[in-house]
Amino acid sequence: MEFKYDLSIVVPIYNEAENIERLYNVLHDVLSRMDYTYEIILIDDGSGDDSYKKLEILHNEVNDLKVIKLRKNFGQTPAMVAGIDISQGEIIITLDADLQNDPHDIPKLLDNIKDGYDIVSGWRKNRKDKMLLRKIPSKIANRLISKITGVHLHDYGCTLKAYRACILKQVKLYGELHRFIPAVASLVGVRIKEVPVNHHPREFGESKYGISRTFRVILDLILVNYLLRYMHKPIHFFGKLGIIAFIISFISALVTLWMKFYDDFDITGNPFFMIAILFMIAGVQAIFTGVLAEMISRIYYEGLNKSIYSIDQILSKDDLRENINYQS
Ligand code: UDP
Ligand code: MG
Repeated sequence: MEFKYDLSIVVPIYNEAENIERLYNVLHDVLSRMDYTYEIILIDDGSGDDSYKKLEILHNEVNDLKVIKLRKNFGQTPAMVAGIDISQGEIIITLDADLQNDPHDIPKLLDNIKDGYDIVSGWRKNRKDKMLLRKIPSKIANRLISKITGVHLHDYGCTLKAYRACILKQVKLYGELHRFIPAVASLVGVRIKEVPVNHHPREFGESKYGISRTFRVILDLILVNYLLRYMHKPIHFFGKLGIIAFIISFISALVTLWMKFYDDFDITGNPFFMIAILFMIAGVQAIFTGVLAEMISRIYYEGLNKSIYSIDQILSKDDLRENINYQS
């Protein structure tokens, strides 16, 4: 892989008009004082406010900025992936546009990458969000994710992270899986470190997520668990369920027969008979789902080369055509 810059900064933007200029200024200030070549990539994720207009104006004034405008609001993960795909830096740094993350922490992340880590993840040790609604579900979620994925982090939710591009570009992300990048990346084997970073309250604009995020995180966790453990052998997952169902079915059938011969209990009126049939069907279903999943995972691995976003426009002073995937 050839890299044009040392660093690519990737920031998704959804209705952050009041934050854009401040964000760029702080980033530019921090980055231009370091000895790295860099590019800043801001992705407008279908904002309904003036964000894109602000980005256009800014792009005309400066030289280290690239802007991507997505055709609609795809969500934080697809927006980040759009930025990651066109990035040309050896190290990719992601953060939020609202300045809750502090660009002054970037040098600290880079020091750890220099020490040989592939992913350096920010840990908002002193988090400035509302206590009950955000901190407690997040604490439980982090414990659970760490336990289930085996990748132990205190703070999966912090977007401020540094990655080696060769790792991050291999990771396929869908849905809202940006929160699980370290876990998904562990599929290819990575060295991960967590470092405490600053966290500020949001001054302008609103958070894009409410409490319902907790439920989506739980669903994503089930998915990530499947991806990590069974993606390349789905029959082991569904097959296990199928075998358990067959065992329950078999035992219920024996109980039904035993009750018939020893207690003269009518087979048709016996609930165990129903259970035996129900679990027999469930077992057959599970095994066949496993076989189908095996077929699907083969297609997946052989690669459809599909993209999860669709680009409207790109503003850049470099030619980016060969990096862009126009398929959706
Ligand atoms: N974001 C985005 N698309 C969305 C939702 C959010 O690009 O559909 C961006 C948003 O502009 C911000 C980052 O993702 O830069 C994180 O969002 P937010 O600050 O609302 O999340 P929170 O800090 O509340 O977890
Ligand atoms: Mg935020």
